[in-house]
Amino acid sequence: MPAKIIDGVKMASEIRSEVAAEIKKMARTGVRPGLAVILVGHNPASEIYVRGKVKASNEVGLYSEQHNRPETATTTELLSLVEDLNRREEIDGILVQLPLPAQVDSKKILMAVDPTKDVDGFHPVNVGFLSTQRPGLVPCTPAGVIEILRRSNIPIAGQNAVVVGRSDIVGKPAAMLLLNANATVTVCHSKTPDLPGVCRRADILVAAIGRAGMITGDFVKPGATVIDVGMNKVTDPAVFQRLFGGRLYKSGKREEAFRAKGSTLVGDVHPEVAEVAGALTPVPGGVGPLTIAMLMYNTVKAAKMRRGSSVPEMSIK
Ligand code: NDP
Repeated sequence: MPAKIIDGVKMASEIRSEVAAEIKKMARTGVRPGLAVILVGHNPASEIYVRGKVKASNEVGLYSEQHNRPETATTTELLSLVEDLNRREEIDGILVQLPLPAQVDSKKILMAVDPTKDVDGFHPVNVGFLSTQRPGLVPCTPAGVIEILRRSNIPIAGQNAVVVGRSDIVGKPAAMLLLNANATVTVCHSKTPDLPGVCRRADILVAAIGRAGMITGDFVKPGATVIDVGMNKVTDPAVFQRLFGGRLYKSGKREEAFRAKGSTLVGDVHPEVAEVAGALTPVPGGVGPLTIAMLMYNTVKAAKMRRGSSVPEMSIK
C-alpha cells in the first residue's frame, strides 16, 4: 500500500490560524507581538525566504519590520543593529537570515541576539534549555517536524527514531526533540557506517542531509514514517530522470514544470520511498511550510514569555 502523504500546507495553515487567533486575543490586552527580520546582501534564496516570513507575519497579524543591509555590512554594524532591536520593547522576535556574508562573524551576531527574542532558537541559551527540557525557544524546522508527527497522530514515545544529519539548525535539535518526546534516537552523519542498515531500524526516519533523493527505498522499513526535511534544487536532467524517471511514478506534471523552468525542488528522500513507507512528507509541501508557521508561533511564544504570561498550547511547549 502506498504511503499516506502528509499535507504540510494544510497543517501549516491550521497552525497559522491558531496563532492568528492568539494574536487577536493579545490585541485585547494592548499587546501586538513584533518580529524584526535582518537580511544582509542579495542572496536570492534568502530574499525569497524573508519575503515569505514577512508576508506570513502580516497575514497572522504580527507587527513586522525588515532591516536590509548591503553585502558589505560589517560585524560591528550588524551587532549595533541587533543591540538596538534587543532594546526595543515592541520587538519580541529577532531573526537574522542566514547565511551572512563571509566577512561577518555569524556566531558573534547570533550570540548577540537576546535569548528571549531568539525566535530561531539558535542561541546557546535556548539550545541549553532544549537539551535540559526547560521552557525556551525551539528552532522552527525541527519544531515543525514534531508538529507534523503529533498532528498526524504518529506516536513518538517508545519508537526508534533515526535522524540523518547533525547540523545545529536541523539534525541536532530534531534529535533532541524526539528524545525529549521519549523516542530512542540515533543520529547519523557522513561518517556513519552502513547508513541504509541503521535507517532501516527506524520507525521514524528524519532526513536532513541536503542530497537530492539520497534516501532510497532500501533505507526504509516497510510502514515507517519518513520526514523529508531536505530542500534541493535540481537542474540536471539526469538527476531528474534518476528521481522521477521510474515507471511507477506519475511524473508528467512535474516533468513539464521542470522542462519549462529548468529546475525543480526535491527532498532528500527518493520518490520510490512512497512505495515502502507508511507515511511520508512531500517536497515541496511538507516540512517547509511548517517552518514559517512555527516562526509565527515562536514570535507569539516569545512575546508571552517575556511578559510572564502563559504560552499558547502547542506540542512544542
Ligand atoms: P547541513 O549541510 O548543515 O548538514 C547536513 C548534514 O547531513 C551533516 O550533518 C552531514 O554530515 C550530513 N550528510 C551529508 N552527506 C551525508 C551522507 N552522504 N551520508 C550521511 N550524512 C550526510 O544542512 P542543514 O542541516 O542545514 O540542512 C539539511 C537539509 O535540510 C538541506 O537540504 C536544507 O536545504 C534543508 N532545510 C530545510 C528547511 C525547511 O524549512 N524545510 C530548513 C533548513 C534546512 P557531517 O556532519 O558528517 O558533514
